[in-house]
Amino acid sequence: MDLTLPTELYIDGAFVAGEGEPERVLNPATGALLVEVPEASTEQVHKAVSAAHRAFDAWRDTTPADRARMLLKLADAIEAQAETFARLESLNCGKPYARALGDEIPAVADCFRFFAGACRTLTGPLAGEYLAGHTSFIRRDPVGVVGSIAPWNYPLMMAAWKTAPALAAGNTVVIKPSEQTPLSTLWLAKVAAEIFPKGVFNVIAGRGASVGQPLVEHPKVAMVSLTGDVSTGRKILQAASSTLKRTHLELGGKAPVIVFDDADLAAVVEGLRTFGYYNAGQDCTAACRIYAGAKIHDRLVADLSSAVKSIKVGTPDEPDVEIGPLISDRQRNRVASFVERAQMTGHMEITAGGRQPAGSGFFYEPTVIAGARQDDEIVRREVFGPVVSITRFSDPAQAVDWANDSDYGLASSVWTQDVGRAMQVARKLQYGCTWINTHFMLVNEMPHGGLKSSGYGKDLSLYALEDYTVPRHVMLKL
Ligand code: NAD
Repeated sequence: MDLTLPTELYIDGAFVAGEGEPERVLNPATGALLVEVPEASTEQVHKAVSAAHRAFDAWRDTTPADRARMLLKLADAIEAQAETFARLESLNCGKPYARALGDEIPAVADCFRFFAGACRTLTGPLAGEYLAGHTSFIRRDPVGVVGSIAPWNYPLMMAAWKTAPALAAGNTVVIKPSEQTPLSTLWLAKVAAEIFPKGVFNVIAGRGASVGQPLVEHPKVAMVSLTGDVSTGRKILQAASSTLKRTHLELGGKAPVIVFDDADLAAVVEGLRTFGYYNAGQDCTAACRIYAGAKIHDRLVADLSSAVKSIKVGTPDEPDVEIGPLISDRQRNRVASFVERAQMTGHMEITAGGRQPAGSGFFYEPTVIAGARQDDEIVRREVFGPVVSITRFSDPAQAVDWANDSDYGLASSVWTQDVGRAMQVARKLQYGCTWINTHFMLVNEMPHGGLKSSGYGKDLSLYALEDYTVPRHVMLKL
């Protein structure tokens, strides 16, 4: 495919070169430079916010049907250019091209379609007389300018999760993709430019400190929505505090997976082979912290380790490739150092992977670590790479306690053939999502978001529309 990589920002309906420092955007599968994207200057950040602020009054006055039409057009255009988006995503993230095309782009288009329909269903729930001679109404109104800040693991999908509900609800948006993966969001701007009025949707590229921070601090930004690391969430809360902005934080995860002795071992192994390593484990819901019942433990370690050794790692266009590289050399070193420290404890065993293959891309072998204990770093901290740990339990109540004994609270799963036990455990798990006999599956109709240090606020579903609107009381004296 002959593709000119996008480098321009999209501000107030115009494509402009960034006036800040150039950012080197790499191909993680080769380590080579793809393109340099000059980041937005602080003045350009302010211009984007002012444009979104000016556009807000007219945009909020559009009907849900008007907005839905535009969002549906955007979904159609994304599908029509699916191959370009998938190519950009696989070049910039090293993702297997077929996965980007088959899994991610359809989910992105569906996200815009879901919110196109969903915004037409919002109704004011109430009109009533609570004070004699007065009628009260509840309205749900947009918040204003939303500053959206996205991570590098699913750049286009995260852009969709953040902008679709915000726009559908009548807000205007300034989105900043990760400095490591701006390309698909810059391309999205090209598509959106044909559809939305100027100023409604703006894209600025650049680093967190130089571009994200001024966006968060801008007094005309009414709400900041971040998907990113816990430490970034803290910084954003601090930066947002001076202007008391609304915040919506989707942060990290360390998903526990409780496997009871009666679980279907083959299904568990197949599930973990897929859901622990998809996207090279760079997923906040990755099935990475396994608690295995004493009777199933040894077979699980053996079968999972041999299954994981069969995962095909490679560059985006290799036939049958299942997972690609990590996003950067830095991220790979981080993952490798977790595995090294686990090995140094002496009580853990690397039963699959644990090495970085030779070559210039940022690859790391899919890895299984057996013998992990609850207090081990590998059980407690988010690795964000293709590394799964296994911990043996003998007391089911302890497995649930261990699963909940975490700073994170995003996703979890329980594997058993006993429906009653599955439901009891699901009730006790302190996680935004619990899957039973599966993991990782998301649908646009259901909420996604965490508890504890995993953040607050929901992506996807009608709950996201609620998050991007404010309930207001209007009272009429009769
Ligand atoms: P990151 O926190 O380093 O970066 C996320 C975004 O925040 C980037 O666009 C970055 O430029 C920006 N940023 C950084 N510092 C900033 C600042 N001071 N002010 C404003 N913006 C700033 O995260 P990442 O490394 O890109 O992504 C990986 C993290 O994202 C992992 O921790 C992962 O768990 C999390 N994540 C969470 C979810 C979820 O739904 N909960 C989904 C995907 C990823």
